[in-house]
Amino acid sequence: MLKFAVTTIVFLTALCAEAAPATLPHIVILTTGGTISGAQLSDASRAYRSGAVMVQDLLHAIPQANSIADISAESVCNIGSQNMTNAIWLELAARLQQVVDDPTVNGVVITHGTDTLEETAYFLSLVIKTDKPIVMTAAMRPATALSADGPSNLFDAIAVAVSPLSRGRGVLVTANGDIHYAREVEKTNTLNLAAFVSPNRGRAGETHTGDVNFFSAEVKRYGKTSEFALGEHPQLPRVDIVYSYANFGRDLIDCLVKIGTKGIVVAGTGDGNITADAQAGLEDAVRKGVVVVRSTRVGSGPVLRDVEVNDDEMGFVASDDLNPQKSRVLLMLALMKTSEPKAIQTIFDSY
Ligand code: ASP
Repeated sequence: MLKFAVTTIVFLTALCAEAAPATLPHIVILTTGGTISGAQLSDASRAYRSGAVMVQDLLHAIPQANSIADISAESVCNIGSQNMTNAIWLELAARLQQVVDDPTVNGVVITHGTDTLEETAYFLSLVIKTDKPIVMTAAMRPATALSADGPSNLFDAIAVAVSPLSRGRGVLVTANGDIHYAREVEKTNTLNLAAFVSPNRGRAGETHTGDVNFFSAEVKRYGKTSEFALGEHPQLPRVDIVYSYANFGRDLIDCLVKIGTKGIVVAGTGDGNITADAQAGLEDAVRKGVVVVRSTRVGSGPVLRDVEVNDDEMGFVASDDLNPQKSRVLLMLALMKTSEPKAIQTIFDSY
């Protein structure tokens, strides 16, 4: 059982002296923890605790939000996102689907830690069915820090969620004035406010003081065109990631096969390459029914089939430009349908 309870905190427009007109779009904020709700241990401290600041306090810092949306909020969990689990994803997805199915709701904002934001965003983008905007946001600095980025990121996320331009675009991520598609976004810096980028296909758009502009459409499948749905009692199969490097051996791969993993994603060198020893381990894994996806540790660019590794012969899947952590998400969902490598390659080609 999950250790967290879903608590509903409805605070409507009492946050601001000015009551919002009834016609404003209704935006629900689902909170999950992270630095956006973090408080430093002391004024000058680098150390901080996630989840110490309530969303109401963040909203107090952006009273402007009450003039663009009628806001309610609830906490789904309160964790540093490094502690995200499959179980929490399933809980969050179930609640999110209920919220977007509510006819009184116009859009959703999800606050999240930056560490695994891209994984959660991609997972939700594949399993949630709605045209309503779902906008995730986060912060690189705790809420108590000098020039904390959380309040402005939250305002931007609300502005994107109320924009009619955001409809039908699946799960979006807003940070530092940029808007990203869930599939494309990656955290690329441990500290910088401009940590989130879409290295392969570019940003979806940008937002500034409430204005929202989109530059491009997501061409891959997501949301309503995604074949993945969670159903009543979803079970996500075990999928692990191994990281390739000079002298990378097969031991960890053998270990994973022994403990019953169903899929292995390789964060390979270059075009998803691995040492001969690791490749032999992966070939044995495939023979035992484990699905192997070759992704790359490089940070951008596609992994193409049959370049230096003969995927056709080995029975491997190439990830295209999906990074290892997102490849893990897609492979888990794909394995709920099939464990046939060719069928899974088709899935990786279209998502
Ligand atoms: N470790 C934190 C988290 O992912 C970092 C952050 O939010 O920026 O929750």
